[in-house]
Amino acid sequence: MKRITFIKTSALAGLGLGFSGFKFHHLHGKTHILTLSFDDGFKKSFYRIADIHESYGLKACLNVIASGHLNSFKPKDKWIPPDSLGNFDDWNILQGRGHEIMPHTWEHLNLTEIPIVKAKENIDKCLNYFEEHLEGFKSSESVYNFAYNASTPELEDYLFQRVRAIRTGGWLVLNGSKSNLLPVSPKPARLGCWGYGPDFCDDFVEEQVNDFLASSGGWLILNLHGLENEGWGPIRTSYLDNLLMRVTKIDYLAVMSYGEVLGQTKG
Ligand SMILES: [Zn+2]
Repeated sequence: MKRITFIKTSALAGLGLGFSGFKFHHLHGKTHILTLSFDDGFKKSFYRIADIHESYGLKACLNVIASGHLNSFKPKDKWIPPDSLGNFDDWNILQGRGHEIMPHTWEHLNLTEIPIVKAKENIDKCLNYFEEHLEGFKSSESVYNFAYNASTPELEDYLFQRVRAIRTGGWLVLNGSKSNLLPVSPKPARLGCWGYGPDFCDDFVEEQVNDFLASSGGWLILNLHGLENEGWGPIRTSYLDNLLMRVTKIDYLAVMSYGEVLGQTKG
């Protein structure tokens, strides 16, 4: 969204005149929203990521594999060793500390490479497990994060029967833009993100954030994984800490979790 358009929409919404009737009060006039969306559920990293966010008064956006802690979980991906993953005791503790836990598949399969029937089964298993094991979880308010950011319109539409939004590859849904439009209605949202790996992603993140800051605004979602030696495309702990220290001082930018952004449209 171009800055001028957003300001206009915002001002109208503030007067209760927005065409959708939804308010953006919580954005406090920010034109740039940044979400750092951490995937997979590495126990050590996720506690540390939560600590770092807390030190800046931020909610971490953490996406976990529903069956990651079960003996049945046999990842095909060497970047996700099962013994590095946390369980739903951990996720409930982190949620209790104010962080956001969202689904990142049942067993981390690329759903575009398996039969559609099995893909839909896996989606339901994932959401059902979250509803049973994560306190207060509501599928209808959740953001489903596709593994490998791989999706098809058919899978996305299937998910929209149950979830608020899906997160997939920015190259699939952003029509050449780097950032998402800020949602202006409670309609299902297709959110596009960007990531980098398998090496450290620090330089990539720095470049993306700088480009975003120089743009007219919107909602940039960067897909991250673990810290230091955990996960595909990890981020250095000191870099993450320093990044959050810097960006939280920028008056036109807010670092927010999905729920904080989508919550603006609850009316
Ligand atoms: Zn993943």
